[in-house]
Amino acid sequence: MASHLNQPHFQNPVKAREYLERIQWPNGPVCPHCGSVSKEHYELNGEAHRDGLWKCKDCREQFTVTVGTVFERSKIALNIWLQAVHFLCSSKKGMSSHQLHRTLGVTYKTAWFMTHRIRKAMEARSFVPIGGGGGTVEADETFFGTKPGANKHARGGYAHKNAIFSLVERGAKVRSFHVPNVTANTLKTILQSQMATDAHLMTDDGRQYLKLGPISASHETVAHTKGEYVRGNVHTNTVEGFFSLLKRGLIGTYHHVGSQHLQRYVSEFDFRYNNRTALGVTDAQRTDNALKGISGKRLTYRRTHAQ
Ligand SMILES: [Zn+2]
Repeated sequence: MASHLNQPHFQNPVKAREYLERIQWPNGPVCPHCGSVSKEHYELNGEAHRDGLWKCKDCREQFTVTVGTVFERSKIALNIWLQAVHFLCSSKKGMSSHQLHRTLGVTYKTAWFMTHRIRKAMEARSFVPIGGGGGTVEADETFFGTKPGANKHARGGYAHKNAIFSLVERGAKVRSFHVPNVTANTLKTILQSQMATDAHLMTDDGRQYLKLGPISASHETVAHTKGEYVRGNVHTNTVEGFFSLLKRGLIGTYHHVGSQHLQRYVSEFDFRYNNRTALGVTDAQRTDNALKGISGKRLTYRRTHAQ
């Protein structure tokens, strides 16, 4: 079988741009200046124009498919961008900037910018609560790395560690949050905004979960403190399985993730989980779904941390 990377949009910048246009503009080009969507916007093909330049039939302004996206004003060829998106989407545990730098032959600094921008594209855009229609939602927290300013050698407890709180609907999607603490108040606020009220919630018997009050159709707990892990269909194995993949990636692939970037890395693992093969999403579709997320997210920021 030919490599995925032999496809024209991974090899040729013009084909890459046309591919991106098909993904971004399924109903015709979208003018970022006035919002007009029309198949009558036209491409400027003269010698004097750069490739992929369009003119809006309504406001007469010019635009390209990368205006207002995380790829805007990048010197990297679009087909190289598409390769990078493909690698981050198809590697189960992510791909480090070092690996991408070696694989794509771009500088480490460039690879670092690329991976951060791609993570931005992967950030969730759905605000519909999960577990609606009586779904089962497992919620749990895990800990990773040391908070800024905390004592790295602190023993016992988790107060000095970064906390990640995740909700997973069984057979469906996950949402994860880098949270300042795991008090009942913090977790309840997230659950109330992210979980449908008719969902069935399952957690362990951590004290914070026993204080949540009525926020779902039901709430059952497994008594981890008493060594109970499964009782009938009551368990948190799904969310724990997600955490194990997340941690293997954060530790094995990314090594040192600064607290200030942790949410982005966590969102990257959410994205792959929510576009996983078991939900019928192929590697190619996962890449396309990430590409759909590039608009409205242009960002520039300084390199603050290796990785
Ligand atoms: Zn316009």
